[in-house]
Amino acid sequence: MIKRSGFTKLKIQQFEEWITSIKIERKVLIIQQHHTQSPNYAHFDGNNHFELQERMKSFHILRNGWRDIGQHFTTFPDGIILTGGSLGRSPACIRRKNANAICIEHLGNFDTGRDEMTDEHRETIIRLTAMLCSRFELPVNTESIVYHHWFDPDTGQRNNGSENHKSCPGTNFFGGNKVHDCIDNFLPLVSARLHEHPV
Ligand SMILES: [Zn+2]
Repeated sequence: MIKRSGFTKLKIQQFEEWITSIKIERKVLIIQQHHTQSPNYAHFDGNNHFELQERMKSFHILRNGWRDIGQHFTTFPDGIILTGGSLGRSPACIRRKNANAICIEHLGNFDTGRDEMTDEHRETIIRLTAMLCSRFELPVNTESIVYHHWFDPDTGQRNNGSENHKSCPGTNFFGGNKVHDCIDNFLPLVSARLHEHPV
């Protein structure tokens, strides 16, 4: 576990202990899934986790005018996780849908034809989501695990991607960004992880 610039770098194996060791005075009901789009795999050199995270933080503060980096966690192509903003505060990730949420940004562009998710990254995304469900006692369904795509980026209204939307976390994120893709492809992996390794 390495700390720098207020961020903690964790392997997925370390995350479990870390998340159970910290106190969080906030009700968590939703886990948001995002991709960063840019920076993406082309910007990752295997060693620049902190630099990329610091750059995202600067962008969020200087360009967007936010008080901190938007997300709580960033996952990387090698399966590493970096913490971001305080879990005690709401993230800045889906307009008007940040209360009671944890925001995870997966470094990459997972639209069809762009970055091919590595096995390590895939494993971390599944396990991280499973551990958060366990820690906050959330059911594995599409109410507690949500994709940015399902919300109107301007109003925060949930439309499941039928109208105004972003592609985030990518049109090829675990086979697609629709609600049925999540139910068919992503949630079973999270559930299986929880059953195999109850935490
Ligand atoms: Zn997003």
